[in-house]
Amino acid sequence: MDFEFTEEQKMFQAMVRDFCAREIEPHAAEWDETKEFPHEVIKKMAGAGLCAVHFPEQYGGNGDEITFTIANEEISRASAGISVVYLVSLGLAMYPIVMHGNEQQKSHYITRVINGAIVAFALTEAMAGSDVAALDTKYAREGDYYVLNGQKIFISNGAEAEFVTTFATKDKSLGYRGISAFVVDRDTKGFSVGKLERKMGLHPASATELIFDDCRIPVANMLGEEGKGFRIALEGIDASRVSIAAQALGIAQAAHDAAVAYAKERKQFDTELARLQAIQWMIADMATDIDAARLLTYRAAWLTHKEGHAPPKEAAMAKVFASEAAHRVCHKAVQIFGGYGYTKDFAVERYYRDQRITEIYEGTSEMQRWTIARQVLGVK
Ligand SMILES: Cc1cc2nc3c(=O)[nH]c(=O)nc-3n(C[C@H](O)[C@H](O)[C@H](O)COP(=O)(O)OP(=O)(O)OC[C@H]3O[C@@H](n4cnc5c(N)ncnc54)[C@H](O)[C@@H]3O)c2cc1C
Repeated sequence: MDFEFTEEQKMFQAMVRDFCAREIEPHAAEWDETKEFPHEVIKKMAGAGLCAVHFPEQYGGNGDEITFTIANEEISRASAGISVVYLVSLGLAMYPIVMHGNEQQKSHYITRVINGAIVAFALTEAMAGSDVAALDTKYAREGDYYVLNGQKIFISNGAEAEFVTTFATKDKSLGYRGISAFVVDRDTKGFSVGKLERKMGLHPASATELIFDDCRIPVANMLGEEGKGFRIALEGIDASRVSIAAQALGIAQAAHDAAVAYAKERKQFDTELARLQAIQWMIADMATDIDAARLLTYRAAWLTHKEGHAPPKEAAMAKVFASEAAHRVCHKAVQIFGGYGYTKDFAVERYYRDQRITEIYEGTSEMQRWTIARQVLGVK
């Protein structure tokens, strides 16, 4: 048993940390305030090789799920708004292509992401959130084309994505068996971006409606077998739950570091906050939560790497624990900062807002617990 990163992984972590300290962290508060999407930073990430991480070598990739998790943690520590762009583009939106695409689809789309393309994963609809099998976007075959009609909501990267992996049903009465997966390029006629959500956090990243209005895509754009879209979506989400666990972990680590530094510096009643037992207990609980979250997250990444797919139970455990640990840690960080923590002068206010979504997207905490319980109890 070995809880240490390898030398190669440590070097990779140091490289990403250095990149984030130069290119992301100094701008994170400004991007949060202006809500502008910093296209140039994604290009710089691609230039530094960060967008090749975890793709198969034969398509120009390098690294694996563990290095991808390291990158997700480090980028999230600097800016969760940038990390969601990254982890959706490389992970959530690409797992269906990497796991189920044919050779042509893989080499075409993976190459684009390695070069800095932004991608979206469009599953959620107004009446299909946790219950994804209830989706209502339809597809029908017309000659050499599939015609898609419907509307997705809350889609991360929706405003910027060059292409989108999406899911539609041939016939709703078939339930999950009617669902197939597709890839749709942004410039396809009949595809458009709708309402841009005004969110609590993750401000540099967009979340939008996506509209398919007689959107005709070549039959070659179906991913995997017809009727297997539900499974393809769930496999991708399982794997991406490890990314969200790493995102929560990165946010928590940043909040912890800020709180520790502040507690050592700020004096009240003639002493540093760090010498007060009430503050020490908060710091101890934060450090313990982060350690436990890190162990669960990297175990899930390691299992995904070893088994070639994410184990649903361990991925759900990592996601629910890390996201709720990040909630507790960010809450305490704001508390340690007192009134200053409630202002935009300190980053803990941003961490507190950015953390909240990690308990909701890619399956709410309730859905994670359902997944874990079904596996433990052996019930459907
Ligand atoms: C900023 C943001 C980005 C997002 N990005 C994407 C994206 O890129 N792609 C995408 O497809 N989607 C995305 N989503 C959608 C997200 O995954 C969903 O919001 C989430 O899965 C929950 O669905 P819902 O909002 O419809 O909530 P609902 O499913 O309506 O759930 C509401 C509440 O009921 C609970 N609940 C529901 N069913 C059960 C049950 N059976 N047992 C117990 N409790 C239950 C939930 O846990 C929750 O507390 C994003 C959402 C946001 C806000």
